[in-house]
Amino acid sequence: MTHRILILGGTTEARQLAGKLAARADLSITLSLAGRTENPVAQNVPTRVGGFGGADGLAAYLNDMRIDLLIDATHPYAAQISANAAEAALKIGAPIVALRRPGWELVGGDRWTSVDTVADAAKALGSAPRRVFLALGRQEVSAFEAAPQHHYLIRSVDPVEPRLAVPDATYLLARGPFPEADEHALLRHHRIDIVVSKNSGGEATYGKIAAARALGIDVIMIRRPALPDVPSAETVEALAAMVDHFVRPVDERGV
Ligand code: NAP
Repeated sequence: MTHRILILGGTTEARQLAGKLAARADLSITLSLAGRTENPVAQNVPTRVGGFGGADGLAAYLNDMRIDLLIDATHPYAAQISANAAEAALKIGAPIVALRRPGWELVGGDRWTSVDTVADAAKALGSAPRRVFLALGRQEVSAFEAAPQHHYLIRSVDPVEPRLAVPDATYLLARGPFPEADEHALLRHHRIDIVVSKNSGGEATYGKIAAARALGIDVIMIRRPALPDVPSAETVEALAAMVDHFVRPVDERGV
């Protein structure tokens, strides 16, 4: 008998966790992706793609597929799916555990201004033209059309389509990780004087924050959204170790 686990993913950690758990013969893993990225990285585990249709749709999926454990390993800013996951698990009485990577902490030399939303970040750039690096998802950058006086360097995994309705923008296509030395060179090359970032946490995208600190560049940091209160772990290893609290290994069941 195997235990069925659904991992809500879209992050590097979700992929790593799925790979790690899939190596266990007593677990059957399905990874779920929203389908936002046109060419997602190969996941190497059974994967389903697309929304469930809200918390009710997810609850129905968990029932239909007889899922024993739901793991929310989505990005810290993917607040809707995390809320849906907690609600769906509660609704059908399935256990849920979340992988929550800690946010970055302010350190000496950082020049952060914290704001709550992308729209607030656009306002916080001020009225005088600046050279802005937007390290945000392509869905979010349209908020900066409200501040067309700035020059924007926009980096995304998939092309920003349609282009931003601002007169001065440069587009870069790239997928992380982004080492600090490369980010340092990028900020200097484009003469960036302010970076707009989410507080994603983790190593893969911290390079721009460290590079901004080293160069004395301002950062507008978008605060994390509130997430549901469910059992959680901070790392792939810690979460993998928690799985047996929710689904006991077959040989310990005494059957
Ligand atoms: P969101 O606003 O929390 O979710 C919007 C809707 O997308 C959800 O209600 C759900 O649709 C669907 N969805 C989201 N994640 C899903 C998943 N793993 N599997 C199936 N459906 C999913 O999410 P988002 O911020 O758009 O992020 C979408 C995906 O990109 C997530 O998987 C996330 O981990 C990843 N990601 C997000 C960010 C970010 O900054 N937000 C950064 C990197 C990666 P239904 O209601 O129809 O089920």
